[in-house]
Amino acid sequence: MIRVNNLHKSFGSLKVLQGVDLEVKKSEVVVLIGASGSGKSTFLRCLNFLEMKDSGEIYIENNLIDVKKDNLNKVREQVGMVFQHFNLFPHMTVLENTIEAPVHVKGMDKNEATDIAEEYLEKVGLLDRANQYPGTLSGGQKQRVAIARALAMKPKVMLFDEPTSALDPELVGEVLGVMKSLAEEGMTMVVVTHEMGFAREVADKVLYLDQGRIVEEGTPEQIFGNPKEERTQAFLSKVL
Ligand code: ADP
Ligand code: MG
Repeated sequence: MIRVNNLHKSFGSLKVLQGVDLEVKKSEVVVLIGASGSGKSTFLRCLNFLEMKDSGEIYIENNLIDVKKDNLNKVREQVGMVFQHFNLFPHMTVLENTIEAPVHVKGMDKNEATDIAEEYLEKVGLLDRANQYPGTLSGGQKQRVAIARALAMKPKVMLFDEPTSALDPELVGEVLGVMKSLAEEGMTMVVVTHEMGFAREVADKVLYLDQGRIVEEGTPEQIFGNPKEERTQAFLSKVL
């Protein structure tokens, strides 16, 4: 579903990604872990072309994406993204947030978009909140709306950038629960998270990123149970 070869990205003289490779198969859940500043968000943003790589190759469903020739809006439709801070439109209701991109980016008919939005709001347990504004919702509910909004574009892959980091502890579970059920339904996902319990339970593969390089990758059992690299061991000893 996704293949990345030798991705590099710098901001000025700061080398943030220094040759990252990744392969994500259909229905796989890949969890990316690493310290703050290691380049996790930059990597996800490059996958979604919110940030432009300096060099390297990104394939989505075996198509090499050419930033100059391809319509990046079309590419972004295939790769949904959920952010730490939800990024909902505050002046739009939950339903309006969810139909915004299908109607204005995809050009979908408003009734059809509403049907699809209602289906996904139901899936995340928030159909009864459809006419409320984001300001009236808890952080966990806002994040579930953000997930429904991304799903309404019917992406092939979902990227999650620390989706529970801004939440009060008691609200983390409801968001992880929605993500887990998505994974069980076969969604292909790349998840940046510090929730190691989620990684252990849901990930097919865990990657440890340090200073813009993947230092180690393996199954959750390998990475959490028997990390080979000293840097991985040191990181895990701090977070576990
Ligand atoms: P992480 O998500 O792992 O915490 P980031 O990808 O956000 O790491 O950031 C990696 C490094 O790149 C940090 O040093 C950060 O300050 C820097 N960085 C990220 N985005 C930008 C930007 N738009 N301009 C300049 N530096 C940036
Ligand atoms: Mg980040």
